[in-house]
Amino acid sequence: EIAPVITIDGPGGSGKGTLTGMLAASLGWHLLDSGALYRVLAFAARNHGADLTNEEILTNLAAHLDVRFIAGDSDREQCIILEGEDVTRGIRTEATGAGASQIAALPAVRQALLARQQAFREAPGLVADGRDMGTVVFPDAQLKIFLTASPEIRAERRYRQLLEKDETANLAGLLDEITARDERDMNRSIAPLRPAEDAILIDSSHMSIENVLETVQLEARKRN
Ligand code: C5P
Repeated sequence: EIAPVITIDGPGGSGKGTLTGMLAASLGWHLLDSGALYRVLAFAARNHGADLTNEEILTNLAAHLDVRFIAGDSDREQCIILEGEDVTRGIRTEATGAGASQIAALPAVRQALLARQQAFREAPGLVADGRDMGTVVFPDAQLKIFLTASPEIRAERRYRQLLEKDETANLAGLLDEITARDERDMNRSIAPLRPAEDAILIDSSHMSIENVLETVQLEARKRN
């Protein structure tokens, strides 16, 4: 029997990552942070000196990407190992996010990462977050959430996240970068950022993360 999936799509800074972590923990399910996969690929491309517009080289890199996701638990974050190197923190910069968004627009690269993402679907279930989880990767998901928040609030959240991780950050610069990345993610021809037809839309601008979690848990219970 095929394992159930809940998809959480939306723009960066909407609270997807936090929500996905909390929901997966509360259900005891697996977790897929698909954005991390695109970030790792952008990171690997930089390590290998690969041109971010060269679809052939990047597709090859994606197909042979030596990456391991080590599941976290209540007191440990998920750990990401690329070619033996711990890149958990290294992939979180806005520069890597921008690189990820650039290569994510290449159809062959997305195709090369598709099966790898679908392989995360294992019993007892999966919570998957990204941009196209409900539209492309898991179109048969039991529950699809599209989480948004205003660009200003998302920039502010990103800003606080970066400061917590001791990264340097600039609020106005972040707002510009987030807006540019949204534009590119929404307007690309392949797997653009948009809600699936059967997705539930949640605007988290003025909601606490606990509030968002409760809303989603309620929807999940309805489908059991
Ligand atoms: O969610 P995160 O900010 O880590 O994603 C980084 C970039 O990876 C996004 O801006 C997007 O371009 C790309 N991405 C994607 N499809 C996904 C997840 C991420 O295209 N499912």
